[in-house]
Amino acid sequence: MADGVRTTCPYCGVGCGVIATPRPGGSVSIKGDPDHPANRGKLCSKGSALGETTGLDGRLLAPEINGRTATWDDALDLVARRFSETVAKHGPDSVAFYVSGQLLTEDYYVANKLMKGFIGSANIDTNSRLCMASSVAGHRRAFGEDIVPGIYDDLDEADLVVLTGSNTAWCHPILYQRLLAARQARGTKIVVIDPRRTATADECDLHLALDPGTDVLLFNGLLAHLERSGAIDRAFVAASTSGFSEALTVASAEASSLADVASGCGLAEADIRLFYELFAATERSITVYSQGVNQSAHGTDKVNAIINCHLATGRIGRPGMGPFSVTGQPNAMGGREVGGLANQLAAHINFDKSEDVDRVSRFWNAPRMARRAGLKAVDMFRAAGDGRVKALWIMGTNPAVSMPDAGRVRAALKSCDFVVVSDVTHTDTTRYADILLPAAAWGEKSGTVTNSERRMSRQRPFLPLPGAARPDWRIICDVARRMGFGDAFGFEGPAEVFREHARLSAFENNGERLFDIGSLSAIEDQDYERFTPLLWPQPIEGNPSARLLADGGFPTSDGRARFVAVRQEGVALAVDAERPVALNSGRSRDQWHTMTRTGRVPRLMSNAPEPVIEIAPEDATRQGLSDGDLAHVSSRYGFARARVAVSSNQKPGSAFLPMHWSGRFAANAGAGPLATPITDPFSGQPELKHVPVRVEREAVAWTGTLVTRRDLRPTGFVHWTRQPVEGGWVYELCGTETPDQGILLSRRFLDGFAHDRLVEYTDRRGLNYRAAALDDDGALAEALLVAPPGQLPPRDWLVSLLGSREPLGAMQRMALLSGRSPVPMPSIGRVVCACFNIGVNQIAQSVASGCRTVAEVGESLRAGTNCGSCRSEIRKIIDEARLQAAE
Ligand code: SF4
Repeated sequence: MADGVRTTCPYCGVGCGVIATPRPGGSVSIKGDPDHPANRGKLCSKGSALGETTGLDGRLLAPEINGRTATWDDALDLVARRFSETVAKHGPDSVAFYVSGQLLTEDYYVANKLMKGFIGSANIDTNSRLCMASSVAGHRRAFGEDIVPGIYDDLDEADLVVLTGSNTAWCHPILYQRLLAARQARGTKIVVIDPRRTATADECDLHLALDPGTDVLLFNGLLAHLERSGAIDRAFVAASTSGFSEALTVASAEASSLADVASGCGLAEADIRLFYELFAATERSITVYSQGVNQSAHGTDKVNAIINCHLATGRIGRPGMGPFSVTGQPNAMGGREVGGLANQLAAHINFDKSEDVDRVSRFWNAPRMARRAGLKAVDMFRAAGDGRVKALWIMGTNPAVSMPDAGRVRAALKSCDFVVVSDVTHTDTTRYADILLPAAAWGEKSGTVTNSERRMSRQRPFLPLPGAARPDWRIICDVARRMGFGDAFGFEGPAEVFREHARLSAFENNGERLFDIGSLSAIEDQDYERFTPLLWPQPIEGNPSARLLADGGFPTSDGRARFVAVRQEGVALAVDAERPVALNSGRSRDQWHTMTRTGRVPRLMSNAPEPVIEIAPEDATRQGLSDGDLAHVSSRYGFARARVAVSSNQKPGSAFLPMHWSGRFAANAGAGPLATPITDPFSGQPELKHVPVRVEREAVAWTGTLVTRRDLRPTGFVHWTRQPVEGGWVYELCGTETPDQGILLSRRFLDGFAHDRLVEYTDRRGLNYRAAALDDDGALAEALLVAPPGQLPPRDWLVSLLGSREPLGAMQRMALLSGRSPVPMPSIGRVVCACFNIGVNQIAQSVASGCRTVAEVGESLRAGTNCGSCRSEIRKIIDEARLQAAE
């Protein structure tokens, strides 16, 4: 056993193994687990920085009722009473749970059991609805069950990997590095299908920048090409599938020629031919797909268009081949296994047949079994808004930021009679809670998670529970007991929950459901503690196989997979003259969800410290926008503000905004309030990748920077953002008021400082303002600089003073109001490699000293040698330096 606790990274669906070692003084050392099959010791920038996120800053440490600290007994009594009363008065569908892919499988299991078996409604849905519900629906349509056939080893063994709607280099970096290693070893070809030129596209053999939303046409064209080129596996199709001719007829009709596909997808015919011929000729082909496919009003059809091509060629479940959905969250798969989605029951059992519902009812001995699907996420918040849902419990997620049409979701939370939020920190959502329940965080929780390849791993605690925080499974069981369901929720610990979950998976299964972990039904507590990562299925009898579906035997009524005849549909909302740009949204390299954890780590915030909208040069010119301008972005649903980055990575008519920015890190920069709540008819997943917007320049008249130790939430500014730095925060401010008004507005920050602690200066024209405040020891506590746009001095020196907490010398005091160090101070610049904290200036210096390749920069500085997600940025710096040298 290594020194430290073996656990699992809580950020993404790769599910990397982590060894965490608490150190004296409260810090935690983090390294990758060399024995975990998902990552073999590697971690990406986010995983490497996990030790910097375990502090108690911003943690919820005690229950609150209406903003006042309360005892657990009072809070739990009130939750149980209000839910029971609401159900008694308005029926079971008047209450709902909105849960999260952050929950461990055991947490999910008891939440689902309480709602579907004992409250009697299926109104429990997970934020994974926003992430991969279309994959679930597509799998169920094609395979009869939500099955991911492949495993990560297939990426090592494939000859062609098609990455579609997946910026794998940033969103699943460890998988991407594994793929690049395989490419180096065996020459794996990589095709990237994405409207954006992402970091992933930088290292591929072919990038197909198709028009947003045209994936079905592209894959229908591939199916038709496979038929034309004789690449169909007739024996597999005949023996193991149904519906081929219908699917082919539809595909061939709409994609009768390469020219049709090229014009429909906005691609060059030659590029499409190259892709089709490569796919047709390569037996070992994998198609990896992610949010770019799923987050669409036609996501399920896209998934089935991809699966159709794999079924047609029989390339499924065998080494190095198959469709492969990768999930965004660490335990999205675990949620799918226990029924965290409103349209699934539990253990991959559905609502479709009454005997299936009866089976679960008997197993749970459930008195009020839900018999039909419940409200999916978007509908759930609509119901909360119009009064149909009167009591809502949100667990471990931040819908006030992340849901589409988030403004309406906030209004719904405000108007809902009773809102409970259990979470780890304060978020934009906790503001709406009547009851706040402090939940255990990563490092304190115990249970299991399942990654994208069906591998179950343990999350183990290595820190004590702080304050009054409790694990989610326990909070849910405590409420269930108070609602009168004690017999069914008397679990002593997560191992006992896991055993019941495993028993249900095997209950009257008879091989009908592939999700079967029956062999773990009687796992002893000590074996649960020692649990090593394991792929499901793990049935009681028979040998578990790693890859699934290779030999047919699909979990449908006749054992055959289904081709689904899918048509290319138009986008849910088209751009028009008023909103001519299609906005895409997604992840930044070093951030996670609404930044509640990663936003507090200086080195993770330094690469992209402000919300930025990437826009194509043609659109920028048309709108009069330049790099660094402040843009006002408006959709039919809401607005956001972000800095402009003009980028040829965007196709004309499209733009990209990160999904992460909440009201705790910027004034109004979220993608959620802009997004459309239009959903896929099968999966209920909302369209987050194509939102018609208008992008306009804000006439910024003043800018400001506040360097402070305080954790503030500014109000009254047109735009502000903040980033953590050593010892405090840096706030960037700006406005459209006159500069003197900007100074007045910003000056309010200093109201609490005594005059003898404050030095101030305003220039004669009233345009430039500087102020600094010292603490009792004479160290810098706060600095405020206001100036017209483009005239602020750099803030590196002030930030370093804040971090040092050293009393200032005479020269430093004199220099304070200039904002510039009295002696030259090297700056690493914006962090490029977050794993080793290497800045842009250091890389530029190493290039100037002779490093000519990414590998040479890596040898010199280590930059790019860990997770590799910054390699494309390093390459850009090298290329730009070469260009400048050539000019
Ligand atoms: Fe965590 Fe990074 Fe691994 Fe994802 S790839 S699980 S974020 S370390």
